[in-house]
Amino acid sequence: MEIGNLSQNQIITTFGPGSIIDAKEDSVMGLDINYWNNDGEEYRRIYFNKLASYLGVRYFLEPKQGKNSFPVIIFPDWHVCSNIKCNLVFQLSESVTGNPEIYDSKGPRCPDCDFRAYPSRFIMFCENGHIDEFPYREYLHGGKTQCEGKIRLRSASYTSSLSSLILSCDNESCKARKTMGDALLKATFSDYSCKGRHAHRPSNPNDKCSADLIPSLRGATNVYFSIVRSALEIPPWSDKIFQRVEKMKVEIDNYIEDKKIEAELDDEVFDYEKAQMRGLKVAYRKLEENLMTFEKFIEIYKKIAEGASEYSEIKESEYNSILNHKALSKNYSSFLASEEDLPDYLKIYFTRLIRIEKVREIMALKGFTRASFPDPDNDNFASVVNLAGKDTGWLPAVRTSGEGIFLELNREEIENWLSNFDSKAISEIYDNEYRKHVESKGWEYRQNRDLVYVLLHSLSHALIRELSLRSGYSTTELQERIYYSENMCGLLIYTASGDSEGTLGGLEEMGKINNFQDVLINALKNALICSADPGCLKTYPGNENLNGAGCHACLMIPETACENGNRLLDRRTIVPTQEKNFKGYFEKLVREVCGISL
Ligand SMILES: [Zn+2]
Ligand SMILES: [Zn+2]
Ligand SMILES: [Zn+2]
Ligand SMILES: [Zn+2]
Ligand SMILES: [Zn+2]
Repeated sequence: MEIGNLSQNQIITTFGPGSIIDAKEDSVMGLDINYWNNDGEEYRRIYFNKLASYLGVRYFLEPKQGKNSFPVIIFPDWHVCSNIKCNLVFQLSESVTGNPEIYDSKGPRCPDCDFRAYPSRFIMFCENGHIDEFPYREYLHGGKTQCEGKIRLRSASYTSSLSSLILSCDNESCKARKTMGDALLKATFSDYSCKGRHAHRPSNPNDKCSADLIPSLRGATNVYFSIVRSALEIPPWSDKIFQRVEKMKVEIDNYIEDKKIEAELDDEVFDYEKAQMRGLKVAYRKLEENLMTFEKFIEIYKKIAEGASEYSEIKESEYNSILNHKALSKNYSSFLASEEDLPDYLKIYFTRLIRIEKVREIMALKGFTRASFPDPDNDNFASVVNLAGKDTGWLPAVRTSGEGIFLELNREEIENWLSNFDSKAISEIYDNEYRKHVESKGWEYRQNRDLVYVLLHSLSHALIRELSLRSGYSTTELQERIYYSENMCGLLIYTASGDSEGTLGGLEEMGKINNFQDVLINALKNALICSADPGCLKTYPGNENLNGAGCHACLMIPETACENGNRLLDRRTIVPTQEKNFKGYFEKLVREVCGISL
């Protein structure tokens, strides 16, 4: 079946395994990666042990579209006949038209009248990531039933409301009838429990699950959230020699693994060090002559083998590489950065402004969640559905090229700012609400989210909104990386939409100081007002809302652009407002340069 044109990027970010895809003729779901055809050299490999080791795999494969390379199944199975005289609701797998040959040539057809049939608009899922069919028969009959009468779904009027959709049973002795009005209410299904089905792993047995079922429309955005983990490929990791050794490392690992199995079979004690040294020697012999000395080879191998166990390690390594860009040789074809001189009045707020003219990013798909957006710092909480990377040893990933603007904030000024108002109390509100949110999801509370994070995040959004008007990239093409920990206080706004080597150049251009001043000042001006004021301005986190003064009208951006699901935003951290409890970090700048007095 044709699924239309999906780019590699789309398979990673939006239409990966477990997502529902509107294909040309029907609705389908991508299968887990252990169903992908992985025997030949069909997929291109990407080596980057830092990200791979963190994700528990050895390397990555670039996805490819195609019947075997990106296999899908029909989902949902329930279909509705489009003939208004028929409107039969049926399971395709139980009908003759479900036969692959008929299906492939004619698409889904009604078994009764042979008219075109359409996939069910309704599906069910749960917070643990399971997904299932909408229980039409049970819904119509008010629970479990013996009735096997034919079911029809008719529209009683020309309005599109759900209550005008009537489900009915043909059986003379039953004649059940019900509108679809309650079909999307969670309460309707309070007596049902999740069957623990992962439709993207058709040959696996169901999980045990006691979560509530959530009825939903097939195309709703909360049916699938991809968990993408990415790393910038910055020197030395992008160095050609490093790349060469990255590739060798997988061979060395295989060699060690073989030796270990041999030792086990021979009942011998396995000497890891010895096996590793021999593996290194074998691999080194395969390298082109004079590429590097054996000592250098070992040194690089060890550096690569360190890997990363926490995502924050990856971010810290990027952060340091960006700050040290001057020390990196300019010979890299994949990384280019230049420092901008900050004028004195901006030096108060920022310590560094760096234009990233060229950078490569590896984006790997780890798994997905349903129902709620995954947390950027949590990886192994119960509701994540991981792809089968443990079995395959790889995950799907793409390598993109991009450009960006990096900012480091002045920590001293941040301390000043925090001491100018009762920031501690507000910080605690944020952190407590964040902790509650994380714990309610069954995630691990790992990183406190204080007001400085909110400041960095709000600034990032304000800049992205302004940059989308000037850089030639829309908000959906821009992305943020917030670098915040004991050792980091900065942000990167970048785009990694370039499939090939090329980018527009419009974004880094905006990082040139003359442009950047305008961008910053306009972003701050825009943050002063929101069409939802005064309500927006008076909002504090609480009741499952993790934002302060930050809403769709003022600070939010598309979820693909945000690293934190549009959570933890507050304009009051950046600009002066009439909220007396707050001070904005850029208050002085706004008053002086923007000439605004409140
Ligand atoms: Zn029909
Ligand atoms: Zn019936
Ligand atoms: Zn479930
Ligand atoms: Zn607002
Ligand atoms: Zn964000």
